[in-house]
Order: sequence, then structure tokens, then C-alpha cells
Amino acid sequence: MDKISLVVPCYNEEAALPLFYKEADRVTREMDFCAFEFVFVDDGSKDGTLPILRELAQKDERVRFVSFSRNFGKEAGMLAGLEAATGDFVALMDADLQDPPALLPALYKAVTEEGYDCAATRRTTRDGEPPIRSFFARCFYKLINKISDADIVDGARDYRLMRRSMVEAILSMREYNRFSKGIFGWVGFKTKWVPFVNVERVAGETKWSFWKLFKYSLEGIVAFSTAPLAIASVLGFVLCVIAFIYICVILVKTLAFGDPVGGWPSLMCVVLFLGGIQLFCTGILGQYLAKTYLETKKRPSYLVRETEEGVK
Ligand code: UDP
Ligand code: MG
Repeated sequence: MDKISLVVPCYNEEAALPLFYKEADRVTREMDFCAFEFVFVDDGSKDGTLPILRELAQKDERVRFVSFSRNFGKEAGMLAGLEAATGDFVALMDADLQDPPALLPALYKAVTEEGYDCAATRRTTRDGEPPIRSFFARCFYKLINKISDADIVDGARDYRLMRRSMVEAILSMREYNRFSKGIFGWVGFKTKWVPFVNVERVAGETKWSFWKLFKYSLEGIVAFSTAPLAIASVLGFVLCVIAFIYICVILVKTLAFGDPVGGWPSLMCVVLFLGGIQLFCTGILGQYLAKTYLETKKRPSYLVRETEEGVK
């Protein structure tokens, strides 16, 4: 019998967790042709998430959990869950029921009967999301697909069921700055996309502000593309060409019409413009340098304080 591990990162999910467990329990009991394991990752929650997990682990022997020493972010949560999972198949899902457990049988069928290594979900609409957020999300997906070789699908969720081989491939990527959407695409494997209509969170509230998402998208670009580094060279080249043309223009003008003094405003514009571009390009370099710096420190992605076996 195949064993499926459900990996669920939770951060302050006391309101949604009981509902999630109820629904996941129902779906998994219906799929009685598989064995199940729940791996909850408590990402340093400050509410009652951990006590709920302890209780679930006590009453249901399929439930395991990993609790972090502080909030390390969803990426670290997913990594810890994948590392702890022991199943032949592993499914990643959110605790807020935005990733409907009811899709599991379809995902399982895709990997066992249709010859895929992974069945991933994609939401077809972005209903219930602020329009400005959807707009920036679309722009981000267009941009990153142009400048990186990781294939990142618009509307893709992290909700997916993977074969062990793919999980091992993902775990073999030991980078500190993790951007899972990019990693899933980068490792390849045959992926079936299962569309579903967006559902809103059952309880509690989203942990992602616009600013957090913006920073996350920049991280994705830095992690999966070096194209921004080329901006400095391209801009430098273009400016050289413009400067050369301008020098010719000035030369001809001076020879033909003499040299009337003036031009302070234009000089200021050029100085400020070039100064701006230089700082901008140094900033891009700095972003990559900062990421390299963090990678070389080789800090662990997360620290565990407690598991279902007790405090460490
Ligand atoms: N999450 C987490 N650590 C964080 C933020 C979020 O483990 O620092 C979890 C959260 O508990 C949820 C999932 O990641 O299970 C998705 O978060 P959320 O629903 O807030 O994001 P959204 O669906 O709004 O993008
Ligand atoms: Mg959500």
C-alpha cells in the first residue's frame, strides 16, 4: 500500500487548523487504499497552533509535527516538512483550506495511473484578491519566465503531490534562499497541472502583505536569474553610444557657431542621471552579493524546538 505524507506549514493557524484537520481526515479516510501521514510544521506560531498540534498528535497516530524555535517563513516550513516526510508520495498543502484536500484523489490518480511524477494545482481565477495585487502577480510571472530558465506557471499554487524521486531532487537543492515555485520548475519531472477555482481562506487571515510579496518576488528573481546583472553592461553601452553622438553634435555646433557659455541645467541633468544609474546598478550588484554572503554562511534554514516525540 502506498503511503502519502501531507506536509502542512502552519503559522498562527489556530482558527483554521481544526477545520483543516476535519476535512483532511474525511478525505484521507475515504482514500482507504492508501496509508497516510500528516506532517504539520509549526512555523513559530504565537497563538494556540502548537497545543492543537500536540493534541492532534496524541489522538491520531498518523499525525506528526515539527515545531520551530521561531518564525522562519513558509519556505523553511515546506523544507522541514519535506525532510521529515517518510511517504512514497508527498503532498504540500496550506492549512487554510485554500488548497482543497478533496483534490487529493485526482492528484494521486495522475501520478499513479497517468504516468506523471507530480500533480500540481493551478488556480484559474484570482477572485477575492485585490486587483492591484493580481496585476503585479501577472507582471511578475511574465518577467521571471522571460529572464530565467525555471518554468514558473502563473497561478500555480504550492499545493502538489510528488513522487519520492522528485522530493529527493528538491531536497538535494541545499540553497539557503529558497524560492520553491522556481525550484519545482527547475528540477523538471513530468508535471500534470490540475486547475481549480480559487477558494478563500476558511478562517484566520493571510500572512502575506503586499510588501512581503513584493520582497518575495525580488528574491525569486535574484534566486533564478542573473539577467539583472546584465543591466549595468547594457545601460553602460547604450550611454556610451549616446555620449559619442552628443560629443559629435557639440563639436560641430562649437565649430560652426562658436562657444557661447551656458548649459548649466543640461549639465546638472546629465550628472544626476548618470549618478542615478550608477547607484541603481550598484544596488543590483549588492542584491546578488548579499545573497551570496548569506549562502556562504551556511546557516541552517530552520531550527527545531519540539516534535511529536517531545521537546528536543
Ligand atoms: N505560513 C507559514 N509561515 C509564514 C507564513 C505563512 O508557514 O511565515 C503558512 C500559513 O500558515 C499557510 C500557508 O503558509 O498554511 C499560506 O499562507 P497564507 O494562507 O497566509 O498565504 P496566502 O494563501 O494568502 O498566499
Ligand atoms: Mg492562504
